[in-house]
Amino acid sequence: MTVEQMEFKTEVKQLLDLMIHSLYSHKEIFLRELISNASDAIDKARYEALTNKEIGSDAGEWQIRITADKTAGTLTVSDNGIGMTKDEVVQALGTIAHSGTKEFLKSLQDRDKQANPELIGQFGVGFYSAFMVADRVTVLTKKAGLSDSQAVKWESAADGSFTIDNAEKTAPGTEVVLHIKDDEKKYLDEWELRNIVTKYSDYIDHPVVMEVERKKPDAFDKEKTITVKEDETLNSRKALWLKDKAEITDAEYFEFYKHVSHDYSDPSQVIHYKAEGTSEFTALLFLPAKVPYGIFFKDFKIGPTLYVRRVQIMDHCEELIPPYLRFIKGVVDSSDLPLNVSREILQSNRQIDTIKKSLTKKVLDTLAEMKKNEPEKYRLFFKEFGRILKEGIHFDFARKEQIAELLLFSSTKTENDQLTTFSEYLGNMPPAQEEIYYITGTDRDEILKSPYLEAFKEKGYEVLIMPDEVDDIIMGSLHEYKGKKLKSVIRGDISLDKEKAPEAKEAEVTMERLRAAMKDFLKDEVKDVRLSGRLRDSACCLVTDEGGMDPNMEKLMKAMGQDVPASLKIFEINPVHPVFDAMNAMLGDEAKKDQLREYTEMLYNQALILEGSKPRDPAAFAKTVSKLMVESLKQGCP
Ligand code: ADP
Repeated sequence: MTVEQMEFKTEVKQLLDLMIHSLYSHKEIFLRELISNASDAIDKARYEALTNKEIGSDAGEWQIRITADKTAGTLTVSDNGIGMTKDEVVQALGTIAHSGTKEFLKSLQDRDKQANPELIGQFGVGFYSAFMVADRVTVLTKKAGLSDSQAVKWESAADGSFTIDNAEKTAPGTEVVLHIKDDEKKYLDEWELRNIVTKYSDYIDHPVVMEVERKKPDAFDKEKTITVKEDETLNSRKALWLKDKAEITDAEYFEFYKHVSHDYSDPSQVIHYKAEGTSEFTALLFLPAKVPYGIFFKDFKIGPTLYVRRVQIMDHCEELIPPYLRFIKGVVDSSDLPLNVSREILQSNRQIDTIKKSLTKKVLDTLAEMKKNEPEKYRLFFKEFGRILKEGIHFDFARKEQIAELLLFSSTKTENDQLTTFSEYLGNMPPAQEEIYYITGTDRDEILKSPYLEAFKEKGYEVLIMPDEVDDIIMGSLHEYKGKKLKSVIRGDISLDKEKAPEAKEAEVTMERLRAAMKDFLKDEVKDVRLSGRLRDSACCLVTDEGGMDPNMEKLMKAMGQDVPASLKIFEINPVHPVFDAMNAMLGDEAKKDQLREYTEMLYNQALILEGSKPRDPAAFAKTVSKLMVESLKQGCP
């Protein structure tokens, strides 16, 4: 093969540009990323070696080696791990596999990238961080476990392209050679490298070895010292999760978190415990502080890393955690599972089920404690992850009450950005109130002005404001809290008084003919026209029938291109509003029938606007408004 030159994919070019030009202050993390990749490659080889005798036989000890060559100006990180074939190199070091890359890079470029360098890290750019300190990078690699494995050389100066060529390499594994930039030569310094390794990669299971110079007494002349070169293992290799909690500092936990999560910021909470009894395992889990990029994409990898007796089995074991806790990062090390456990076994394994139950309980208990003891921290957590957590109410029937206790809401009575809970809501409920009321929508100011809330305001009843499209479905799944039914204020009939007031009863009689006439005008548009129990000042509104779909959900489903079953709404009119007195007076006058129809349609269109929809025929609606204005002006009205 002759040297082939290949272009990086656009997203890699953009990313390299960001890496090179962002003023990231912790450039040293490039070493952590390369060691981490080397360690992953060894984990893979070690796992494969369980079933493939070709692997590991002459590999000796699994090892990561760092070699600094001051004369050549190079730093090499090599491993005897799984290695890569030519196709794998082109794929791994020429593209970025994560979905949503383009959108992410765009959002990053739009922001002040220099003020937000940690965003780059969130994305997990690992290998490419080498270009923060090197102007050229060469990768020599040979795939393990193949009898006719051809070594390959990849090289790039981050100038938009890379070259690929056949190469000579005896042992399987990978060597990453960094041609260090002139102003970054400190990364060739033994002292500096040692510090970086102990700071970021101390817990790495495999030895990180460097040849160091030592002064020793001369065997022949005790007065003299000679300089010898010898290998030194720089990391303590103690799996952090197996250490005693009391011996671990926050800094160590946080560094480890960054290793497993690719996040650059500290986690919001650490959960570290050992389970004994029916299932023996150790878990070290983290709640991130910010929603990881990509969590809403389908291919977001969920679940902690699974180890069996310190041997890494898989990066992300989704069987260990329910999807509504998919933001949890960390490791689980089991003492009971077999080392050769496969995906199929994991899917129906009792041990795994037991671990999953334990982790779920532990995380939910931790959240409950955090909510009680550190409310502000919990509030920040909930702001980021509440939307995901509450999916559990719908999907985890057995724990829905427990999860409901963890929810926070704004309400018609909370101030500024204060939030309330179901239990506080219950505590503040007036004795006459029988149900828990909620409304969905994102714009709090707009919601507070909503006509749907008029009767509640008058009664002094609090209404919870739910911001997410899924909320209506979730409240439907929860159904009730501590025996009190959850009721959407925009759905079904609302009567806040046990006994109908005498005026309401009278209105039912006086308005009946008008109601029937309006229903006839709107017979193709609405399911029914009825007198409203929820309006006080506004003339009318549209409500969803009991069991019908919430308008926010309907909008979301339509936006996603899904078929929304056609369901007609109920048109509610406010019998005490003067417009209906006037319309009532027009009844029976055949000459005014068209006008009455026009008014009914105007009111219906208003109700559509109030629920956040468009008028049925916006142009016709605008025309009618103008026409009525002209008429009223002609009559000398203001
Ligand atoms: P990530 O590690 O998050 O996948 P990187 O950019 O660090 O992202 O690496 C991209 C890919 O390159 C890895 O997923 C892996 O397949 C491959 N790779 C990198 N370093 C090595 C290595 N030392 N040995 C084998 N494969 C490697």
